[in-house]
Amino acid sequence: MDRLRTFGIVAHIDAGKTTLTERILFDAGAQGWIGSVDDGTAAMDWMPAERARGISITAAASRVQWGRHVMQVVDTPGHIDFVAEVERCLHVLDGVVVLLDGIRGVESQTEAVWEQAGSRGLPRLVFVNKLDREGADFAAVVAEMAERLACRPVPVVVPLFDDAGAFAGLGDALGGRVQWFAGKPPSAVAERITAELLAAHERVVEAVADRDDSVFADALAGRRIAADRLRRLLRAEFLAGRLVPVLCGAALWNRGVDWLLDAVVDYLPAPVEMPRQGLWATPDAGDPAAPFCAFVFKVQHVDAATWNFVRVIRGSFGVGDVWVRGRGGASGTCATLWVVQADRHTDVERAEPGQIVVLPGEFALRTGDSICAPSAPLVLPAPKFPAPVLAMVFEPERAEDRPRLAQSLRELAVDDPTLRVDVDRDRLLVRGMGELHLEIVADLAKARAGVAFHCSRPQVDRRETVEWVGHGEAEVRALVAGAECAAVCEVEVRPAPGLGPAAVLDDVGGPAAAAVVAELGLLAAAGLRVGAMHDLVVVVQRAECSAREPNLPLLEQAATKALEQAIAAACPCDLEPWVVFEAWCPEEGAPVVLADLAARGAEVEAVAAGRLGARVGGRAPLASMLGYVTKLRSITRGRGRVDLRPAGLRPVRRQA
Ligand code: GDP
Ligand code: MG
Repeated sequence: MDRLRTFGIVAHIDAGKTTLTERILFDAGAQGWIGSVDDGTAAMDWMPAERARGISITAAASRVQWGRHVMQVVDTPGHIDFVAEVERCLHVLDGVVVLLDGIRGVESQTEAVWEQAGSRGLPRLVFVNKLDREGADFAAVVAEMAERLACRPVPVVVPLFDDAGAFAGLGDALGGRVQWFAGKPPSAVAERITAELLAAHERVVEAVADRDDSVFADALAGRRIAADRLRRLLRAEFLAGRLVPVLCGAALWNRGVDWLLDAVVDYLPAPVEMPRQGLWATPDAGDPAAPFCAFVFKVQHVDAATWNFVRVIRGSFGVGDVWVRGRGGASGTCATLWVVQADRHTDVERAEPGQIVVLPGEFALRTGDSICAPSAPLVLPAPKFPAPVLAMVFEPERAEDRPRLAQSLRELAVDDPTLRVDVDRDRLLVRGMGELHLEIVADLAKARAGVAFHCSRPQVDRRETVEWVGHGEAEVRALVAGAECAAVCEVEVRPAPGLGPAAVLDDVGGPAAAAVVAELGLLAAAGLRVGAMHDLVVVVQRAECSAREPNLPLLEQAATKALEQAIAAACPCDLEPWVVFEAWCPEEGAPVVLADLAARGAEVEAVAAGRLGARVGGRAPLASMLGYVTKLRSITRGRGRVDLRPAGLRPVRRQA
């Protein structure tokens, strides 16, 4: 397990995530050849782009060998601009590589995933990509990291340029190695490179000398500090979250990818190397002798088959083993187990802690489930997904295609937990996290179902909440089997901002109250009023029935009445989804963009002029931002762009 590195690549859309992932799988697949590049000769000019493109990287996780280490590359979702989808991946990772665009630098999605990974205590390496492109600026991007991500970036691989200013090589700031892409650097350039590498080296030394007195003393005495020693110290600081090693290159041309993989080995941790929260906090996690338990982190429909991707947390799991689902309701005997390697999969006999394998077959498993040894069923902590906020009706051109379209959409909803598909009065109602999300879903459904359909305009889902505490009490009487029976229920509703779907609590205990709580739970599941409500708790304070056996229908009537009263007393109001936006436009276009945002009721929080024009950041109701991507492009003559991401629910503002 010490030699296992499980990581994902997270990035803002278009930063080059797909390209980099392909290169990694390809490079690591071509082991023998790659080993010879380290000396920095021109061998890297070999670029079989077509062959590399042919690799399918759509598998949720791939295992490759890099030197003496095994890497498990977990594919973060293609439409990475949905924070909730990333959450599922982060849940099973031991570290991430954050990819930045060398021109655009830190983008809004970068900030979002940075925080997400940080809040889980996942170490984050950074790779600055696209340095071959005009306008790329490594130093500016590193400065931006320090500012916008509030971290201490330490470049460990720096870009080198020829005299014409073209990206021509890479330098290792720790050991001073140089990869020059074409031949050898001319002597005039070589001198400059040496000076640049020395400066980069000093920067690394400075970063660790702050924490290590012996390095400080050596640096003061002018002694060069060996690369291995620096790496060890950097790693400790990195894993403690105090600094961030930064690498760079150009994934498209396979520049810097090998050094990135070396850095993954050098800096990212093995599964149980650090104290962890979440999955690895399970008792006996990492122990191959413990009762088996694995986490299902992705269910993927591949052609006609279902692939269940699992990560083994403890024990070992193999062909012939019986498993049960942790929360019950499913079990099976493992007939086949696969390891996925880039474009193919191979059978394996067993899987050990930390490993990711595929259990093929349709077992009704879902993302977030656990599978365990029957002797020790266990429910593992699962990532939470926010409820979808935007709904669209999918209408097939021919009515007879409806079942087929519905089936494809349901399969997609299994693969993507932030997607919901309901049939409402013969309409196919699809709910997702935003316009782009639903657009992608429509594309995928078209490819999968092969039927023609139309999509309605998207509608924002509203929810209800309460602003105050409210109390309600009701009594219901009826004749039951000839005797009069009375049920009394008393409830209180309280606002609970940020809670999500309403929760029902039992404040009184006793069998009658438990029954009411169960009934209210049923109400919620049935999508009745309290089920559609958000950010509040319902506390059952009294639930009594005069009959000897609690009469459930009567209690439920009393509870419903009491709840209606309580809600009415607690100032009910509507909630609507909001988004965070970050818009970029040429500076001279900013006034028009700001005026348009004001007309949409947006709250502008920051306006800044930078390297790439004006940046306008803020928040707005999702409803007023529908179609904004297109509108912004038209008011900036195609030069503006915007990123939107979900930002929770807020009360609907009353019209003045
Ligand atoms: P993703 O959205 O993050 O998966 O980004 P892609 O991998 O699809 O890349 C987006 C675009 O950037 C594609 O057109 C790539 O060819 C291009 N690209 C990726 N890496 C590089 C690079 O290192 N240099 C240049 N010039 N283009 C790149
Ligand atoms: Mg991509």
